[in-house]
Amino acid sequence: MKVMVLGSGVVGLTSAWYLAQAGHQVTVIDRQARSGEETSFANAGQISYGYSSPWAAPGVPLKALKWLTQKHSPLIIKPGTSPQQYCWTAQMLKNCSEKNYQINKSRMLRIANYSRQCLLDLRQQQAIAYEGRQQGTLQVFRNQSQVDAVQKDMQLLANSDTRFKLLNVDECVQTEPGLAFVKNKIVAGLHLPDDETGDCFQFCQQLTELAKQAGVTFKFNVQVNNLVTDNEKITAVNTSIGTLCADAYVVALGSYSAPLLKPLGVNLPVYPVKGYSLTIPITNADFAPRSTVMDETFKVALTRFDNRIRVAGTAELAGFNLDIAAKRKATIAMVTDDLFPRAGDLAKAQYWTGLRPMTPDGTPIIGKTKIANLFTNTGHGTLGWTMACGSGKLLADIVSGNETDIDNRGLSSFRYA
Ligand SMILES: Cc1cc2nc3c(=O)[nH]c(=O)nc-3n(C[C@H](O)[C@H](O)[C@H](O)COP(=O)(O)OP(=O)(O)OC[C@H]3O[C@@H](n4cnc5c(N)ncnc54)[C@H](O)[C@@H]3O)c2cc1C
Repeated sequence: MKVMVLGSGVVGLTSAWYLAQAGHQVTVIDRQARSGEETSFANAGQISYGYSSPWAAPGVPLKALKWLTQKHSPLIIKPGTSPQQYCWTAQMLKNCSEKNYQINKSRMLRIANYSRQCLLDLRQQQAIAYEGRQQGTLQVFRNQSQVDAVQKDMQLLANSDTRFKLLNVDECVQTEPGLAFVKNKIVAGLHLPDDETGDCFQFCQQLTELAKQAGVTFKFNVQVNNLVTDNEKITAVNTSIGTLCADAYVVALGSYSAPLLKPLGVNLPVYPVKGYSLTIPITNADFAPRSTVMDETFKVALTRFDNRIRVAGTAELAGFNLDIAAKRKATIAMVTDDLFPRAGDLAKAQYWTGLRPMTPDGTPIIGKTKIANLFTNTGHGTLGWTMACGSGKLLADIVSGNETDIDNRGLSSFRYA
């Protein structure tokens, strides 16, 4: 079957890879000159299966009110941006109930744990290098109320057979020796030994080459304008290089998936949530993180690549705006300096922003739509790198009509119907 994948971020790319493995004739279209140039470009580098949690959680509305008044807030809401923003926020608040949180978190863990297996298989079968490390991740807590709050998550982790350990301060330092200088700032940490790290953009470049060798055609620098339908199926896609046709279409355009599908009556509640990152060269490796350290207070993750540290965080609701705000730069720089003051050269920091394609329930939207030959793989929010391989494989099985390796109930757009 001819399958057209719209979008060559990490999610479109893994979809294309597994579709090609399933024997389909795959074409990928992207407006950029290379894969992974938009949200997949400079994320935090965490492949954090165990940390897969929806942002919509009990207690978050209250926390959000407090955050909005803080100087170094993890959350910024630019009011009045669009009706979509209000709608999405209302849906997110609805998902903050205990019951919804449990449902959403278990769906996310289902995809994340599957993704872990898929990435492992991929690494075993293909030579793919992306500064990856398999050393677990550490979430550090600066006060006891954060430790108390994580107990519920630990129960869910146990239920999903995800390994974890609550560490005291000395154990945190053993795991991440660079924290020795800031022992007094933390009270405990949650270690997730099966989590991984790696540079998502490098992964995209490598998987693109492997996909080309597997017969996938890439059409870069091509803008997707709209989909053409005869009301029962998609018949073509209009692009900047003309009309292109396939038997099936996969929309993996990140935050831009929703506006493309809206005219077809396929309403995806995917909203762009802007995040910031900085990348610095390491000046002293002994003082740098070994893997990812996640600061629970500021919701900032600090990840070790070979000779660089990637630091990322902040959730800004401001539409599709990609400007780099000085205040947000200051927050991620502050956290870097606060936890790993001697590790890298902040004067050489490269700053970046990206738009997380967020759903109000945190779970991505993978699978069929009401249009027979139209599929989605989007809405991965904060965890697209973590969930990319599992989502790509799952999508490929659904498009192929195969039995899926994991239960795919509650993962497609039909859950919003
Ligand atoms: C600051 C930050 C930190 C993050 N940290 C992590 C992390 O540590 N771990 C993790 O798992 N996830 C993380 N994420 C989330 C992760 O980066 C995203 O979920 C993931 O990159 C989404 O991938 P995607 O392929 O869906 O979207 P994208 O990477 O945005 O890909 C969509 C593609 O579609 C193309 N496109 C869009 N519209 C059109 C059009 N009209 N025509 C043609 N092409 C089009 C774009 O060029 C782009 O290549 C982070 C995100 C941010 C912003």
